[in-house]
Amino acid sequence: MTDRKPPFLSLIVPAYNEQEVLPSTHARLARILAACLLDKSVSGYEIIYVNDGSKDDTRAVLRKIFNTDEHVRIIELRRNFGLQGALSAGLFSAKGDVAITIDADLQDPPEKMPEMIQRYREGYDLVLGVRSDRSTDTPFKRATAQMYYKLLKNLGVNIVEHHGDYRLMARPLIDEYNNLYERNRFMRALILELDDHYAVVTYKREARTLGTTKFSLSKMLSFSIDGVVSFTYSPLRFVSILGLIMCVLSISGVVWIIVCKAMGHAIPGWTSTVLPIFIFSGIQTLILGIVGEYIGRLYTEAKHRPLFSIRREDRH
Ligand code: UDP
Ligand code: MG
Repeated sequence: MTDRKPPFLSLIVPAYNEQEVLPSTHARLARILAACLLDKSVSGYEIIYVNDGSKDDTRAVLRKIFNTDEHVRIIELRRNFGLQGALSAGLFSAKGDVAITIDADLQDPPEKMPEMIQRYREGYDLVLGVRSDRSTDTPFKRATAQMYYKLLKNLGVNIVEHHGDYRLMARPLIDEYNNLYERNRFMRALILELDDHYAVVTYKREARTLGTTKFSLSKMLSFSIDGVVSFTYSPLRFVSILGLIMCVLSISGVVWIIVCKAMGHAIPGWTSTVLPIFIFSGIQTLILGIVGEYIGRLYTEAKHRPLFSIRREDRH
């Protein structure tokens, strides 16, 4: 394994209404990173706080932190773009050889960062933080998360279970990510489309000590739908197949009606009413399915995902 030089680290911290947690968060992060600098596991670092359109005093709290620490940068978004938007903004402006993204509430322990950097230095461009258990989540969240991961897996979406947004990315991967055309960025799956050779760092997720979760049920729901719709068109395929089945059933229905009519079992008016229903509903669902197949392909094209991605090239 190659041993890479100590990298310059960009730490990206998205913050939406996090005024309560930021002072202690920053103290903890600054302590860890100062130690990394001292033992030369990083050559330098910046901490990028992305203020995702907060409505509370996050801006003022961040300014105070900014004035006391020269490693700090603040990126103010014009409105609330959601976590994925905030992360993208951070990655766009990161200057480092590597970037680590971490939630502002530090439920994912930042003490694991040196281990992540170590894995990078061993040659990994992608290091994922993975929760070893979900005991600090509410039973509702645990159950829905479990079901959701199962659903994604069954639909053929490539995803690492219990990995959230705590991860390290190396510069080439950051650049590729920044160059994607895609708008709906379900990052934890998208990143695996770019690179599936990754190291894992496991930890126990802590409970949030200050503030409250910034993911309302509706935000969570739209995030989950993004995960399915951005990565698979199996739902469209399902409609196509349903259309085909409906069409076959309709044809059998038509045959059945004609037989009934011929044998004189039909009540007057029945055939002329039921026959068109069978014929047209079959045809309509089939057509919808065909249209769906084309939309599915258009959709893949519109995303402009890269056709390939080169890890490295060996040449003389
Ligand atoms: N967050 C954000 N924009 C949003 C919602 C959340 O930047 O619209 C940030 C939030 O400040 C935190 C991270 O995303 O740093 C994760 O949020 P939270 O801890 O509330 O999520 P949970 O741990 O409950 O899933
Ligand atoms: Mg949290």
